[in-house]
Amino acid sequence: MAPDDALHPHTRLAHAGCVVDPATGAVVASPVFATTFERGADGEYAGGHVYSRTSNPTRALLETTLADLESGAGAACFASGMAASYAVFTALPTGAHVVLPDDVYFNVRRLFDTVLAGRLTYTSADLSQPGALEAAFRPETALVWVETPSNPLLRVTDIAETARVAHAHGARVAVDGTWTTPLLQRPLALGADLVVHSLTKYLAGHSDVLGGAVIAREANGVFETIRAFQGTAGPVLDPFSSWLTLRGMRTLAVRLERACATAEALAVFLDGHGRVAAVHYPGLASHAGHAVARAQMAHAGAMLSFEVDGGEPAARAVANALTVFRQATSLGGTESLVEHRASVEGPDTRSPAGLLRVSVGLEHAGDLVADLERALA
Ligand code: PLP
Repeated sequence: MAPDDALHPHTRLAHAGCVVDPATGAVVASPVFATTFERGADGEYAGGHVYSRTSNPTRALLETTLADLESGAGAACFASGMAASYAVFTALPTGAHVVLPDDVYFNVRRLFDTVLAGRLTYTSADLSQPGALEAAFRPETALVWVETPSNPLLRVTDIAETARVAHAHGARVAVDGTWTTPLLQRPLALGADLVVHSLTKYLAGHSDVLGGAVIAREANGVFETIRAFQGTAGPVLDPFSSWLTLRGMRTLAVRLERACATAEALAVFLDGHGRVAAVHYPGLASHAGHAVARAQMAHAGAMLSFEVDGGEPAARAVANALTVFRQATSLGGTESLVEHRASVEGPDTRSPAGLLRVSVGLEHAGDLVADLERALA
């Protein structure tokens, strides 16, 4: 049989967690819930696991699967995407400076303003603009955090160029790959040092698991610190969530293919609608980041946002009138979601007042277009 890395990622995903159990012949691995593992008379642990905070067979299977998909040297899974992001920040020395995208997922900025305040500093910059990163550097800049497409304006940042500039300054690059998954964008191959995923979204894929992961290009000191934080502080992904994530990943390729095709159709529909002031979707040729997106993404994705003429009251009225879309935050499930982003983010939001963010699910595209048509009428 061909080695795994010779297989297409779709095939590797279809086999995620499919390890034959030598005891029963079962073709998929079952979750291992044990918290502790027997030590032999020789002092060794036959299965390589000691205690589930430091390592667990089901979590380890998910970690090796994710590292393989991202072509990374290792992965560490956490209880949420935010815990995974925090793990990256804990690996930075006290006093370090971080460059954040100016429309970074708002909770990351909040983390810096609250939990990390006094230990790390940051500068917000529009990383989609050439020169903005260079201007944001300080002598103590240790990390550039990238989200592309960004949340919720879908700005596109050139990952390879960002990595080139950051590395020239001796800083590392971490990319939040939540919106793109390992299928649409390969940040490590483009020069990033770390990829972070909220597994909660497309990878688990069914709006019923909370999880996160960090995948490292090299098994260096930074990754060792992240691992040490995982095993000692213990914000780990539990075995059942690890197993559910592997189960969700087996259908990622087909789910994403459908959701991306529908997102493209919705973006075209919205772009031509008289009540829509702007559509943010990098798959549209008119999008400022279209060329970079085409070069570094396999597809523009299944997320989009649009601005309704008339600001917040008009946008909220449209959201309230939708019946197939659910009004909820989050993304990456089978059900399409819409949210008025500014009111979800709260008083410190930077989202435009009339903006609705859409996570496209697996419904028939015709039903979603008809729902939008009705709500905008
Ligand atoms: N990154 C992005 C882009 C997100 O959208 C989210 C959650 O919405 C997160 C990270 C955080 O993930 P979690 O909710 O799993 O902590």
